[in-house]
Amino acid sequence: MTMLDIERLRGDFPVLDQVKVNGRDLVYLDNAASSQMPRQVIDRIARYQSLEHANIHRGVHHLSDAATTAYESARSSVRRFINAAEDREVIFTSGTTDAINLVAHGWGRACVGEGDEIILSEVEHHANIVPWQMLCEEKGARIRVIPVDDRGELDLVAYASLFNERTRLVGIAHVSNALGTVNPVREMIATAHAHGVPVLVDGAQAVAHEVVDVQALDCDFYAFSGHKLYGPTGIGILYGRAALLERMRPFKGGGDMILSVSFEKTTYNIIPHKFEAGTPPIMPAVGLGAAVEYLSGLGLAKVAAWEQSLLAYGTERLSAIQGVRIIGTARHKAAVISFNIADVHPHDVGSLLNDEGIAVRTGHHCAQPVMKRYGVPATVRASFAFYNTRAEVDTLAGAVDKIRRLFE
Ligand code: PMP
Repeated sequence: MTMLDIERLRGDFPVLDQVKVNGRDLVYLDNAASSQMPRQVIDRIARYQSLEHANIHRGVHHLSDAATTAYESARSSVRRFINAAEDREVIFTSGTTDAINLVAHGWGRACVGEGDEIILSEVEHHANIVPWQMLCEEKGARIRVIPVDDRGELDLVAYASLFNERTRLVGIAHVSNALGTVNPVREMIATAHAHGVPVLVDGAQAVAHEVVDVQALDCDFYAFSGHKLYGPTGIGILYGRAALLERMRPFKGGGDMILSVSFEKTTYNIIPHKFEAGTPPIMPAVGLGAAVEYLSGLGLAKVAAWEQSLLAYGTERLSAIQGVRIIGTARHKAAVISFNIADVHPHDVGSLLNDEGIAVRTGHHCAQPVMKRYGVPATVRASFAFYNTRAEVDTLAGAVDKIRRLFE
C-alpha cells in the first residue's frame, strides 16, 4: 500500500495554510467535532449553487432535473461509500442526532412498550442516550447500560448478560467521541442478532476514519454526520435495512413523503422519500456526496494507516510529559487523545493551546456519563484527521509541556 502524500493533500484545504491564529500556523486538532472541507467539496457546492439549483423531485424543468440528479447521485455516492445494498436504504437527515431521533420516533414508538428494554453503552454521546430516554419516559420502558472498563473498553460479558425477552434494541457508538475507543460492533451485532434484537450503530466518529461496510457489519441502522466527514453541516445519513425502514412509521409529515393526501387518509411515499419530508438540504447533500467521493479517492485504508501512526506518536509524546493523564487507553482506538494535565482546568489548557495556534476541544464532549465514569468533569481532546502531521503532534506536545511547567 502506498502512503498518502500528506503535504500535497494539505493543499486541498484552504484553511490549513490561510488561517493564522495569534500569528501562528493553525494546528487543527478538533476534527472529531467538525473536520475541514477540501476545495473539491467547496467547489462542488459552489457549482451546484451557481448552476444547478432548483427544488427537487417535483419539477419538470431543466434545473429541477439537474438538482434532482445531483441530490440522488449524492445518495448513490453514500450508498457505495458504506456499501449499502440499495440507494433506498440511505436516508438524508440533518445529522447523526436527527438520524437517531428518526429511529427513536419512527421505529421506537411503534416497537417499544411498557416494561421493554433498550441496551446502550456507557460511552455513548448524548445523541444516542437522550432520544432513547425520552422514548422510555413516554412508554414506561427502561435503559440498560453496558459498562466500560478503566481502559475504555466495553465489558462484553456484561453486555451478553443484559439480554432478555424484553430487549428491543441495542444502540452503540462505533467509535467513542470522548475516549476514541473503537467498539467491536460486528461482534456485538452478532450477539444482539442471536437474541433477535436489532442494532443501531452511531457511526459519527467512525466513517471518516476506517472502512465502514454496513453489510459486513450486518447492522440494522447506521447513523453519521456530513460535517465530521469533510462535508458540510446540516446533512447526515441514516442507513437502515430496507425491510425495517419499510415497516417504520414516518417521523415528520409534509410534502414529498406522501403518495396521496386527503382529509380522510394519507398514503406514504416509498422509502427513502417516506422519511424526507419537505424540501431537503439539497446543497449540503451534494457537498456530502463530493466529500465521500473525495475520501474514497484517497482510500480509507490509507487514511486509517496514517491516522493510526499519528495516534501512536501522539500517545507516546503526550504520555511522556509529566502530569499528563490520558483518558481512554483501549487497545483499539481511533485517532482521538483525551487528556488532562495534573490539576489544570481543561478550559485553561484549551485557551493556552489556542494561544499557540492549536485548536482542541475541551469539556464533557456531550458524554457526561463517561466523564463521570472516569471521575473527571471534562478533558482536553485532540482529534486527528489524515491531513495532520507529525510536526503538528510535536507542536502540541511542546505546548502541553510548556503549560505543564507554567502550573508546576
Ligand atoms: N454521536 C457521536 C459519537 C458524536 O461524536 C456526535 C458529534 N459530536 C454525535 C453523535 C452528534 O452528531 P451531530 O451533532 O452531527 O448530530
